[in-house]
Amino acid sequence: MKFEVITIFPDFFESFKNEALIARAQKKGLISINTHFLRDYANDTHRSVDDRPYGGGAGMVMMVEPIQKAVQEIKKQGSQDSTLDIQKGRILKKTKVIVFSPKGKKFDQATARRWSKLDQLIMICGRYEGVDERVAQYVADEEISIGDYVLFGGEVPAMVIMEAVTRLIPGAVGKQASLTDESFNSKGMMAKLSKRLEYPHYTRPEVFEINGKKTKVPKVLLSGSHKKIEEWRKKHTK
Ligand code: SAH
Repeated sequence: MKFEVITIFPDFFESFKNEALIARAQKKGLISINTHFLRDYANDTHRSVDDRPYGGGAGMVMMVEPIQKAVQEIKKQGSQDSTLDIQKGRILKKTKVIVFSPKGKKFDQATARRWSKLDQLIMICGRYEGVDERVAQYVADEEISIGDYVLFGGEVPAMVIMEAVTRLIPGAVGKQASLTDESFNSKGMMAKLSKRLEYPHYTRPEVFEINGKKTKVPKVLLSGSHKKIEEWRKKHTK
């Protein structure tokens, strides 16, 4: 899975790429994260990527042209790679282009599951007042929101998506069981119970004082009875 991020702040992703599990997934060859500096695709000497909004109003709008150029070049490079993939026995390259916006379709675990089967996900990070609407209409396949609030830009949403999708790629998470019995999963314990959210977790110490109160781990979890623990956990899924 290749994550391609189009951004005016590529530095955002430097520490993210080196984070433990994301770094490991890259080392294992399960994912790669490529940032593309949008200004490299600008067509003037000032390397402009934004301009004033038609119709007036506050703020600047990201221009369609550099974004379209970036997507085209990434796709072109992708199809060259895919020739290699075909030689390796792969037939089709599954690519998706998304642009971030609060008015987009809400991202969720089911979407993450679908996207974990892609070969390439191209993400366009907006900034300022937003992105020229023609990007959502003609350049991107989907417009995506990560929730009903407004952020400064699409960089954090891109990281959200990379984490959620990477966890679902086989081999990225140590124990596969921690994925099946996880919140929002369609197959594990939560699904069997028609619930969505995992039970609470506890670890040592057994008793811990917070604001003068001795907080305790639920006794049943210390009982050693697999059956009782299972029952308690089932009861505490939501
Ligand atoms: N003027 C816009 C907000 C622009 S925020 C409005 O009122 O809706 C600037 C950029 O940040 C957006 O173009 C988008 O790419 C990104 N962004 C902000 N909030 C987001 C969210 N909830 N989900 C996804 N992207 C978001």
